[in-house]
Amino acid sequence: MESRNPATGEVVATYTEHTDAEVDAALDRAQERYSAWRERTVQDRCGYLQRAADVLRDRVDEYGALMTREMGKPIDQARAEVEKCAWVCDYYAERADEQLADEVIGTAPDAHTLVSYEPLGPVLAVMPWNFPLWQVFRFVAPNLAAGNVGLLKHASNVPGCALAIEEVLRDVGVPEGAFQTLLVDSGTANDVIADDRVRAVTLTGSEPAGRAVAERAGRELKKTVLELGGSDPFVVLDDAPLPETVEKAVTARVQNNGQSCIAGKRFVVHTDVHDAFVDRFVDAMAALTVGDPSDEATDVGPMARPDLMDELHEQVEHSVAAGADLVLGGEPLDREAAYYPPTVLTDVPADAAAACEETFGPVAAVIEVGSEREALAVANDSDLGLGASVWTSDLDRGQRFARGFEAGCCFVNEYVKSDPRLPFGGIKDSGYGRELSHHGIHEFVNRKTVWVD
Ligand code: NDP
Repeated sequence: MESRNPATGEVVATYTEHTDAEVDAALDRAQERYSAWRERTVQDRCGYLQRAADVLRDRVDEYGALMTREMGKPIDQARAEVEKCAWVCDYYAERADEQLADEVIGTAPDAHTLVSYEPLGPVLAVMPWNFPLWQVFRFVAPNLAAGNVGLLKHASNVPGCALAIEEVLRDVGVPEGAFQTLLVDSGTANDVIADDRVRAVTLTGSEPAGRAVAERAGRELKKTVLELGGSDPFVVLDDAPLPETVEKAVTARVQNNGQSCIAGKRFVVHTDVHDAFVDRFVDAMAALTVGDPSDEATDVGPMARPDLMDELHEQVEHSVAAGADLVLGGEPLDREAAYYPPTVLTDVPADAAAACEETFGPVAAVIEVGSEREALAVANDSDLGLGASVWTSDLDRGQRFARGFEAGCCFVNEYVKSDPRLPFGGIKDSGYGRELSHHGIHEFVNRKTVWVD
């Protein structure tokens, strides 16, 4: 396995994939560790998370630089991601005990009835490269707290991050087998899903990967949680405060080089403010600095892999051919690595790729609408339903509008973001199940009914 710096194209490290025998041994260790790990108290297991949070904060610079080197995230955003991983560890360390406490239900005067939350066993996490630490820690923290043990199949382009996560947990004393990274391809991951020693699977990634993993797990009757892509609408109503809205629109679209499932991708703008929004938005997107992600001054770094840029560019070309106006960017930059410029398309027809597919890069599709009703219809005209935001000066109006969104995470006057305290996940082809908050910790547990007469 190669770790290749997307900013230079250079191979920075190589790793040997685990053999079938090594994977088999890892599964044995996971199963063996599970029987002891589940017997510990929640507070005991949470002690490791608390220490992991401290280690992550100590190593912000080291792990931030590692992410930037492996997948091209701007360095300030990489450091912020490490801090956020510490936050999710803190959150579950403080809250898991209460979230996993028995839920007493009085069903009859003489019967004592309750629901207890018990672990399931080894859980496999199939994870993507775009938030290579965060997406794993938001799985690890609740699951270790709940008494499950974790196995990680990370994306093939971020093996260094995969091993760094294992290193953090090892360094804080998490016992052998409670969390293991498997350096394997997706074929081997499917064999692991089928293995009796694995009880459940979670995947964050593309829709095809989600379908493949869910199909395999379904055949084995194993529970899955899927966090797939998004084509989040960013709805600008006629009373939106423009300067702030435009500033947030830019961040919403280009965060993480545009490679985020919850990035604002379709900008649905009321006709009364459309031209003013587009003028300001195009100016702000044009002013971004595209360059070396390890440079503090960079706003947008390279795409994580050249093939991802090719795919994005095809979507832009398809959209222009379908009738969209290209008003900014739209051609790969003439540089060694896969740099795509901030790009704005307007008058994007409903059947253009930028309107009906997920665009994973700094490409914004602006769609003009004549009314609030039309704005909601366009926002919901998508097979995906992960996040959505609406921008208005009237908070009551915003809340009413947000309730009409067909999405899992709906925001008024803020761009969509994940937060350990709030459930995160989608509907429609964006997947199912929830991560984070008490909802997330209850996904991979046996909600056991206990009746004592
Ligand atoms: P993938 O969905 O292919 O990769 C995500 C993870 O799934 C990786 O660990 C990958 O392993 C694994 N995987 C892929 N196919 C299978 C399979 N059949 N069985 C088991 N595991 C599998 O993402 P890509 O990197 O190819 O990105 C393609 C597109 O996916 C992006 O352009 C974007 O639209 C979307 N995406 C969405 C993300 C999100 O946050 N929702 C995150 C990343 C991508 P391996 O790396 O070894 O192939």
